[in-house]
Amino acid sequence: MAFHGAGRKTVCGDLFPGSELGHKYFCVNSSCGAPSTGLSATSCLTGPTAPSGPPRHPTALGGSTGGGAAVPQPYSNPASEVPSPAEMEPDRPIGYGAFGVVWSVTDPRDGRKVALKKMPNVFQNLVSCKRVFRELRMLCFFKHDNVLSALDILQPPQIDCFEEIYVITELMQSDLHKVIVSPQPLTTDHIKVFLYQILRGLKYLHSAGILHRDIKPGNLLVNSNCLLKICDFGLARVEEPDPSRHMTQEVVTQYYRAPEVLMGCRHYGSAIDVWSVGCIFAELLGRRILFQAQSPIQQLDLITDLLGTPPLSALASACEGARAHILRGPHKPPSLSVLYMLSDGATHEAVHLLCRMLVFDPAKRISGSDALSHPYLDEGRLRYHTCMCQCCYSVPSGRVYTRDFEPVAERPFSHSYENSLLSVWQGKELIHRFITEHQQGKRVPLCINPQSAAFKTFIRSTAWHSSKVSRKEER
Ligand SMILES: [Zn+2]
Repeated sequence: MAFHGAGRKTVCGDLFPGSELGHKYFCVNSSCGAPSTGLSATSCLTGPTAPSGPPRHPTALGGSTGGGAAVPQPYSNPASEVPSPAEMEPDRPIGYGAFGVVWSVTDPRDGRKVALKKMPNVFQNLVSCKRVFRELRMLCFFKHDNVLSALDILQPPQIDCFEEIYVITELMQSDLHKVIVSPQPLTTDHIKVFLYQILRGLKYLHSAGILHRDIKPGNLLVNSNCLLKICDFGLARVEEPDPSRHMTQEVVTQYYRAPEVLMGCRHYGSAIDVWSVGCIFAELLGRRILFQAQSPIQQLDLITDLLGTPPLSALASACEGARAHILRGPHKPPSLSVLYMLSDGATHEAVHLLCRMLVFDPAKRISGSDALSHPYLDEGRLRYHTCMCQCCYSVPSGRVYTRDFEPVAERPFSHSYENSLLSVWQGKELIHRFITEHQQGKRVPLCINPQSAAFKTFIRSTAWHSSKVSRKEER
């Protein structure tokens, strides 16, 4: 590929002119014009340095749960060299994932705005314990610019008072859902650079053996410079190599759910994420949801309306009811040409790639990695590595490009520890140790200021729909 345009500014700088999208993504500082709900008189959050007064030690989370809770100390250093924990107050909620609630906060160590995610109900049962530990380990495992990762984990209290986990990630300004439904213009350049980054992040996840299982526009965070990161790993799991092992169908928001999942297929793979990306690609082009059905059966009907009745070979793994439903209905011819009507951006190249992603049979669907080789994404790759990435850099004579534009994970994500996790208490000990070891030798440990009025609201925040996910979800 011939690279050109070094030094060219991103086309995306004006994607969010003036007021940014989505009030819930605003920080709560005076410059934002929004009322502060969290900054107390004792706030230490606005300056770039640690608070000037004597540092207050954290009490147990919530302040009242532990009754005389001891002050947790940092774990690694001799007491004389132990830095005092810096305190953190939440500002306001910015979103809800499949599990947990996310707030915008200021890191008191450097004044940087970051996102704080509370992972609640961790130790309710063994299933939730395993799920949260998996997500936590994934967030600490990820090292990729298009995948959200943990910047830090807040210091846990003593193990007896340890009920919730708080993870700090980079704060992003908006998400792709908000961009799509906004009146902001979305040019072909935008679409190409977004799709390139989605697939770049997905290739990395799949190379680590991880299925995201909830790829949707709301889980694709974006900044005003168009940098995109895949987030929310509450439903993610490691790919199951054994086809005889059953996996739950209670995954993926319905509009983005692959046909094999809709048809009750007991075992599926990374192709389900590629289907979701195909739906999002079409949504970026047409600025409306591609398959917007009221029920899973209608969802399947809308898919077959577009792709035509699938061949029998594509129904081999479907459950009896789904197969009967498709065979009972009228034979439908494919009507893929309607994809050209999504928008002016639906060129032959775009529709060609889209049709490779929206393939009914997962065995014949293009992989995330192969999709990146499609010519439609050449310009997105060029744009990304010319002015947006961290992997290439500029010198006076031009741009020095990385040797590997779409890197894979250094190693697969390991989940072997899960088999030996047999009780909630054991899980609690394991997670506690994981967090403290993760913090060792790093920056001044952070903790929440339990006296903060905002914190009291924050600690009451719950993931409103986490209870809807059954225990079967774990598979
Ligand atoms: Zn690069």
